[in-house]
Amino acid sequence: MESKKQDEDVEEPLLTNTGSSSSHKPSLIQSLISAMSLITAITFAVLFFSLPSPTKSTTRPLRKLPHPVVILISSDGFRFGYQFKTLTPNIHRLINNGTEAQTGLIPVFPTLTFPNHYSIVTGLYPPHHGIINNFFTDPITGDKFTMASHESKWWLGQPLWETLANHGLTAATYFWPGSEVKKGLWTCPEQFCKHYNGSVDFEDRVDSVLEYFDLPLHDIPVFMTLYFEDPDHQGHRVGPDDDEVTDAVSRIDSVIGRLINGLEQKGFFEDVTIIMVGDHGMVGTCDQKLVFLDDLAPWVKIQQSWVHSYTPLLAIWPTGNYSSRDVAVKMNQGLSSGQVENGNKLKVFLKEDLPWRLHYADSDRIPPIIGLVHEGYKVEMSRTGKKECGGAHGYDNAYFSMRTIFIGHGPQFARGKKIPSFENVEIYNLITSILNIKGAPNNGSDAFPKSVLLPNA
Ligand SMILES: [Zn+2]
Repeated sequence: MESKKQDEDVEEPLLTNTGSSSSHKPSLIQSLISAMSLITAITFAVLFFSLPSPTKSTTRPLRKLPHPVVILISSDGFRFGYQFKTLTPNIHRLINNGTEAQTGLIPVFPTLTFPNHYSIVTGLYPPHHGIINNFFTDPITGDKFTMASHESKWWLGQPLWETLANHGLTAATYFWPGSEVKKGLWTCPEQFCKHYNGSVDFEDRVDSVLEYFDLPLHDIPVFMTLYFEDPDHQGHRVGPDDDEVTDAVSRIDSVIGRLINGLEQKGFFEDVTIIMVGDHGMVGTCDQKLVFLDDLAPWVKIQQSWVHSYTPLLAIWPTGNYSSRDVAVKMNQGLSSGQVENGNKLKVFLKEDLPWRLHYADSDRIPPIIGLVHEGYKVEMSRTGKKECGGAHGYDNAYFSMRTIFIGHGPQFARGKKIPSFENVEIYNLITSILNIKGAPNNGSDAFPKSVLLPNA
């Protein structure tokens, strides 16, 4: 309605003028009026197009739920672009009626599963939330972190489920790295915190989340997570371009469809906020794209015990009388000598000299020497002659292949809106904004949610 009125405001002066001068040669005054009308019209037009669109929507009211509810879904290794591999009608329903990062969601470095999932729920870069790799060693105690470590000493920062518990609100986690860890008021309650078991069918995971909507309205958790291991799994085995990955994407689309249909049947679909993300992308790797540390022996002999992780994140911690700086310098001398196969595809840094944009220095847990290997290349100690092609991630997050998806659908997301790519540390603030609670300090920006979410009605 408002839009029509604006249109009339723009058109009226022109119409009046045309009518008055239709049968006469225009006089000077008429020409002047005509020119002035034109200027007025242009002014209106400029104002009209520069003002916020009059049809701009606002937050849509909840019909049934007493409070906003967010379901955060992760599809592991869902590289940006996979949504076009095949028909994905359900994912596209969310895209078309929601807000999408037009060129994908940017993961944190290293572009690995645990560091990224935990950045998404804490808003922190890995050095600040402590999960600096999928596995690492505590330099002081020598204790080893693995993906099955649930002791709270490893998991720093404040994940969303803990933030909610602090506000007296209920969260429900159906798998998410860190969710089983007792932190603050979050105790991983039996009813709302599933212990990781990769053999549970995706459909069963969705059905369990749907069951939460059968609870009395005020008991429905305000935040839920859902995690699917695919298509990461297939991407590693056969690389991102294999039809196995296409099938896995199709399957993810169908479980998203199951969630949408279930919510629709229960009358909650338009009330619930669905945020679908991945943790990172995937790139093809093959046996001819290798760099061997043994080839650096003429410059420096890298000992196996120094290497905390090989690839794609090369992390080296020299021991004994070796200084990290000397080792890094000698490694780079070898790599740039032209005498090491694929040497120009790897560069090592003291962690404090890494590009600042990677945010990967400020933790004792990070080994002193970090190697950045080119996209698709792998680092190994020595030649084994093993023939293999597959996929990997963990590379510099500047590579487009490491990007994943972001889709937001729900009452506070505009329909059909595209937003620029952003880093996943922004998601924590986005979710606390939707839930209208104050979150813990983090690396996301306070302005981000406002730039993405609809204004209140
Ligand atoms: Zn993976």
